[in-house]
Amino acid sequence: MEEYDVIIVGAGPAGLTAGIYLGREGLKSLIIEKGLKGGNANMAPLVANFPGFKSIPGSELIKRMGEHASIYLDIYESEEIIKIQKSNDEILLTTDKADYSTKALIICSGTTYRKLGIKGEDEFVGKGISYCSICDGMLFRGKEVLVVGGGNSAAEHALHLKELGCTVTIMHRRDELRAQKYLQDRLKEAKIPIRWNSVLEEINGDEFVKSATVYDVKRDVREELEVSGVFIAIGEYPNSKLAASMGVEVDDLGYIVTDKNQKTNIPQIYAAGDVTGGVQQLVVACGEAAAAAVNAYRDLKI
Ligand code: NAP
Repeated sequence: MEEYDVIIVGAGPAGLTAGIYLGREGLKSLIIEKGLKGGNANMAPLVANFPGFKSIPGSELIKRMGEHASIYLDIYESEEIIKIQKSNDEILLTTDKADYSTKALIICSGTTYRKLGIKGEDEFVGKGISYCSICDGMLFRGKEVLVVGGGNSAAEHALHLKELGCTVTIMHRRDELRAQKYLQDRLKEAKIPIRWNSVLEEINGDEFVKSATVYDVKRDVREELEVSGVFIAIGEYPNSKLAASMGVEVDDLGYIVTDKNQKTNIPQIYAAGDVTGGVQQLVVACGEAAAAAVNAYRDLKI
């Protein structure tokens, strides 16, 4: 069994930041990541609010963070944690590859994109349905696409798709966006139309998406729109199931509850980043992770 001072769950901006701090304190640390480095930040078309960078693609920012963290610790990717147990002062992790023991755990497991749960959604993933304009946008250059949602992600995806040369329409269930003002202004400048009070009911096609059935809740009208792509950006849910199953306190929505030192209700277990809810911003995730790492270091008194 590999033994560590601190194990970090997740290699998004929070996990990578915690790794940098712990490594610099000389603690034997490890990051275990279910997928690949970066998490949702990897999919941000352009990050324009990370201090020091006027504008940088999310993937580039993550590449730099990953290179920085790798100076100090190993990052195991494509390894899934299956079980977490606490026995006295030791935390035991079982993954699909190995067993680990650690004195402290920092959970930076982020969030997962929410699905609409409508007919055709699962069937056409990769065939016209996408949750990431960075990953798939180029496939729709010169084509009609719908972006579903009214938050920052929907606005950013729509702007990116327009820049790629797609004909974009945003579709939102209400008559007001929740995206921040600067993004709403950019949508206006880019002349991206918005279908208000509209709900996507069904996605249709044969091998690929051909159309979307849309219901206008105000006008009580149902229409079939010809589209080649549908980008779904309707928020996310926290990856906190495993933590909750071993007794870590979560709120009504499943976000991990921490105090201002990023401590959970279980000693030696900390959480940082989007999995804790609140203001979901890169700088906040990094700040929480720094606090978690410094407090883990202090508590370990090594
Ligand atoms: P979000 O802010 O939660 O917005 C989700 C949007 O989807 C809302 O407009 C919501 O409608 C709509 N929606 C939810 N469920 C739906 C359903 N079943 N059918 C149709 N529409 C549905 O999610 P997000 O945009 O992914 O952002 C997540 C977090 O990351 C937020 O805290 C956001 O601020 C942050 N973020 C920040 C940036 C940035 O700072 N540049 C970029 C991306 C994300 P209602 O408005 O009616 O609820």
